[in-house]
Amino acid sequence: MNSTECIVFGDRYLMNTYSRAPVVLARGEGARVWDVDGREYLDFLAGIAVCNLGHAHPKVTEAVANQAGNLVHVSNLYYTEPQVRLARVLVENSFADKVFFCNSGTEANEAAIKLARRYGYETTGGKRYEIITMKGSFHGRTLAALTATGQDRHKVGFEPLLPGFRHIPYDDVEALEEAISGRTCAVMVEPIQGEGGVRLPAADYLGQVRDICNRNGLLLIYDEVQTGMGRTGRLFAHEESGAAPDIMTLAKALGNGFPVGAMLATERAASVFTPGTHASTFGGNPMAMAASLATMEVMLSGGVLENVNTVGQYFMERLRETAARHPVVTEVRGRGLMLGVELDREGAPVVAKALEEGLLMNCTAGNVLRFLPPLIIQKEDVDQAVDILNRCMGEL
Ligand SMILES: *Cc1c(COP(=O)(O)O)cnc(C)c1O
Repeated sequence: MNSTECIVFGDRYLMNTYSRAPVVLARGEGARVWDVDGREYLDFLAGIAVCNLGHAHPKVTEAVANQAGNLVHVSNLYYTEPQVRLARVLVENSFADKVFFCNSGTEANEAAIKLARRYGYETTGGKRYEIITMKGSFHGRTLAALTATGQDRHKVGFEPLLPGFRHIPYDDVEALEEAISGRTCAVMVEPIQGEGGVRLPAADYLGQVRDICNRNGLLLIYDEVQTGMGRTGRLFAHEESGAAPDIMTLAKALGNGFPVGAMLATERAASVFTPGTHASTFGGNPMAMAASLATMEVMLSGGVLENVNTVGQYFMERLRETAARHPVVTEVRGRGLMLGVELDREGAPVVAKALEEGLLMNCTAGNVLRFLPPLIIQKEDVDQAVDILNRCMGEL
């Protein structure tokens, strides 16, 4: 198929759930992808914070290829070594004692919601079941995760949603104190809101939320689906705050592009899951585990997090220069290589122009240009992206 055929047939046969840009991508390497006609693009989106080690990372590719030739799937009725090894690496490098594997971010959040409810059921005889989540949050598209999500536009036409959720303003500890009742079992929060527009809370926010949860006997759930796996310059973004959760969800970059999700928890929280309480046919599948294990090994072998911090800081400085030149920019914010440029207008035209100029990026919350490049980018890549961005903003 040539690119025109691919787009025509794509629109004919695929459900109309995405507004795709008119490009057909065929190959990737590092921070670059190529379309079917051989045109090169600098990828500053990385599959929406997924390919953190860049496209076709040799270690991940090798692990997936080896695993494919060895064992693809057997179910969780048996042990497999890649699954056990990945769980161990995750536990040894986080607050957690136990891991449950699934296949996506929304599923990881479903698992976290179920664990929190089950915890309320076991410890309070079902009196506590309500989960407090934040306005502007994004937790996924399945019904419980969608209910947890604090953005009404995703919910239109899917009501009735689930009972047992309460939404309060993000970065507002007073609102949290007020919202807690005898029904509350958990608080669920993103360390930095991603889809909500790259929103950072006050530096002491997570610490205060942790204290409030401790005082009220609540489980604290961090959704690190987007912020995790080195994106912000730490393996997990909450490490910056020093406030550990009881439960944490991961997906996106965990398998560097291979679909995988995980829900991590302390022993105390995890203990309410027993055989039969939760499951997933594909969860912990050897292919996903091999990809994730290789990803974790590269991430921990040194260099990547350092690169996020140095190149992230350079990128932030270059974006601030850009902002100074273009009055349409109202704020530049972010941490590590999760950066947002807020405009006083819709960002979609900039994204479309950037694509024409060979730069992949995206816009979230309507007016926030979002940059989530692979964590292995160099300063020259940043310079190239910022040059393109300056040209595109100049045309606004
Ligand atoms: C992307 C995302 C999700 C949903 O992940 P899927 O794999 O698309 O289901 C959940 N939470 C956050 C914070 C995300 O960024």
